[in-house]
Amino acid sequence: MKTSLAIPVTKTQSSKLAETDFSNLVFGRTISDHMFVADYKNGEWTDLRIEPYGPLQLNPSNAALHYGQSIFEGLKAYKNEDGEVLIFRPDANWRRMNESAERMCMPSIPEEIFMEGMRQLIELDRAWVPSAKGSSLYIRPYMFATDDYIGVKPSDTYKFIIFTCPVGNYYSKPVSVKVETKFTRATEGGTGAAKTAGNYAASLYPALQAQKAGYDQLLWTDGKTHSNIEESGTMNVMFKINGTLITAPTNTGTILKGITRDSVIQLAKDWNEPIEERFLSVQELKEALESGTLEEAFGTGTAATIAHIQRIHINGKDYELPEKSGDAFSHRVLAELDGIKYGSKEDSHNWIMKF
Ligand code: PMP
Repeated sequence: MKTSLAIPVTKTQSSKLAETDFSNLVFGRTISDHMFVADYKNGEWTDLRIEPYGPLQLNPSNAALHYGQSIFEGLKAYKNEDGEVLIFRPDANWRRMNESAERMCMPSIPEEIFMEGMRQLIELDRAWVPSAKGSSLYIRPYMFATDDYIGVKPSDTYKFIIFTCPVGNYYSKPVSVKVETKFTRATEGGTGAAKTAGNYAASLYPALQAQKAGYDQLLWTDGKTHSNIEESGTMNVMFKINGTLITAPTNTGTILKGITRDSVIQLAKDWNEPIEERFLSVQELKEALESGTLEEAFGTGTAATIAHIQRIHINGKDYELPEKSGDAFSHRVLAELDGIKYGSKEDSHNWIMKF
């Protein structure tokens, strides 16, 4: 989408580019030179601008800090061999951001502001998109309340910001997960389907307990009975049992509608791989592990694309998964998605925005 949206730019006087070691990037620690900012007041988005990345001024009574009216997105840009920038499914992130905004009583963001703000920011910071194999530019759009008012109500004013971080080759080593049967990430009627700050704050304590017990992540179960698998850490999760892929449905309002999840489902359908969107119970998972019918288990998300699961803890017992062969679905789908993202495979679903 090319438009004429004019966004004034203030360039940084002190670029961090020369001092950045692109061969040693730690996720989320290195931020590119500029950010896109827009302010919402009197019912409209105004004062669109690109400026040097730097501190914001907030009053202590800022509503987002007290009551958590804050939402975000996460997506990535890649460089192909011709030096072109490819962004994976930004329209899906824009749509999901507006779904989160609606749930959190926040204003929606027009597509043009989201897309053009992001495109013009990355155009300016093009040199920050890494070109080494496997690396990418993580893009973080987010919006938060800015009213200086301490009463509990939806804010009248907001800020929408996009900044970016170059990230290195993210290979996820196989992870170990623990089925969580005490704590809850989301319940029906709650905010689990929104990408909002509080969901992540609430997950920190249970995740820390699992890490102390030696597991990388949790397998979240439903909040009512803790008997159905929902998500894994900050990823959706898929299991292949007896040749069929199974992943939780997203119509309960408790699960984030992952864009990687959706892409994997579409590719599975293209390849005529049996796939069911239904809940897998902890009991079924246990039986599949015990009978050896669980062939694959993996998380799907923007950070790792696919994270293989090698160990699952269920009610006091650890189960190891067998090593996956090279032609396992999870390997094939990762190779396909990587190929589309880096421009070496055909983008038959029109997922890529290129400039
Ligand atoms: N679930 C949760 C809770 C997440 O935070 C994420 C990361 N955005 C995902 C699933 C995966 O979503 P996506 O594939 O869009 O990154």
